[in-house]
Amino acid sequence: MTFEELNLAPAIVQAVREQGYDTPTPIQAQAIPLVLQGCDLLAGAQTGTGKTAAFTLPLLHRLTQTTGSRNQWGGQAIRALVLTPTRELAAQVEENVRSYASHLDIKSTVIFGGVGMKPQIDRIKKGVDVLVATPGRLLDLQQQGFLDLSAVEILVLDEADRMLDMGFIHDVRKVLAMLPANKQSLLFSATFSDEIRDLANTLLRNPQSVQVTPSNTTVQRISQKICPVGRGKKKQALLHIVQENNWSQVLVFTRTKFGANNVAEYLTKNGVSAMALHGNKSQSARTQALSGFKSGEIRALVATDIAARGIDIDDLPHVVNYEIPNVSEDYVHRIGRTGRAGREGHAVSLVCLDEEGFMMDIE
Ligand code: AMP
Repeated sequence: MTFEELNLAPAIVQAVREQGYDTPTPIQAQAIPLVLQGCDLLAGAQTGTGKTAAFTLPLLHRLTQTTGSRNQWGGQAIRALVLTPTRELAAQVEENVRSYASHLDIKSTVIFGGVGMKPQIDRIKKGVDVLVATPGRLLDLQQQGFLDLSAVEILVLDEADRMLDMGFIHDVRKVLAMLPANKQSLLFSATFSDEIRDLANTLLRNPQSVQVTPSNTTVQRISQKICPVGRGKKKQALLHIVQENNWSQVLVFTRTKFGANNVAEYLTKNGVSAMALHGNKSQSARTQALSGFKSGEIRALVATDIAARGIDIDDLPHVVNYEIPNVSEDYVHRIGRTGRAGREGHAVSLVCLDEEGFMMDIE
């Protein structure tokens, strides 16, 4: 499926393409047609599934179909409201709105607490179509008379479960009470507690439900730690972690075969039995390394991504990313070697300065 097939306005499809996306993610493919039809929506989707575009793209499309009205200061009245639990998420969502609306005559802004109110008030008075906000600041501005939400046509509650976890339920209900009854409402949540269902029941009218499970996120029972360390200190850091925690079985990932050899040698020299596993090793050397690792004779197996694909050890407790993969998917594959079959797993990433970008992509 392509974005064109979803019948979004060409200007929106163009903006999506400029972001480098060709194919809608599952949540986008499911949610966009329903939102375009005007349905209320109950969506189960976590961060990382493409949920922001799943509501933003059809929301923008629908706004292109109507003109809206003026606020009391003569600017564009707010037509779409997106509520998010945190400032960071609000900022991120609004950035998305802005880039997907870059070829449209649709203005947006974001408001959240912890920063001055004046610029936010000025912006709202001047007029915006889409307002992204956290509940606290929204109520603050409303109580001071700077917000008119009576022209809102579409409401999105993003990460509703987090919103409730953070104790915003009363604020959210107060905001809902300020909105027109006749509107389209979309509720996105990663999890569905009774409280969320209650909220959904009071807010949504004949909602359509969509649910996606993220295809390539990591399992919950793997603890993931980042250890910032200079490149030159990585070997010592690794040795320290293995010895300090008395790990008896750890899979270490390096980016290169040379790196794998080098790290394995260092560990062995310092009292942690280790072997390297990579494509230059003969099959018999690989089999030997693996069986030694499984039997506990070898404490650390140092491998490159490709070599590690074939390793199948059910209860591998520890994975170390000695170097951070530059393809995020590889990270998922790597740490997926631990925490299998319902067991707990631990993943540690040694991140040096020039790998921070890769780590951010992974996050
Ligand atoms: P979200 O779940 O909205 O936080 O999005 C997760 C990430 O996926 C963000 O970095 C988006 O920019 C990206 N993304 C959104 N839609 C697509 C798509 N159709 N194809 C590829 N990446 C996407």
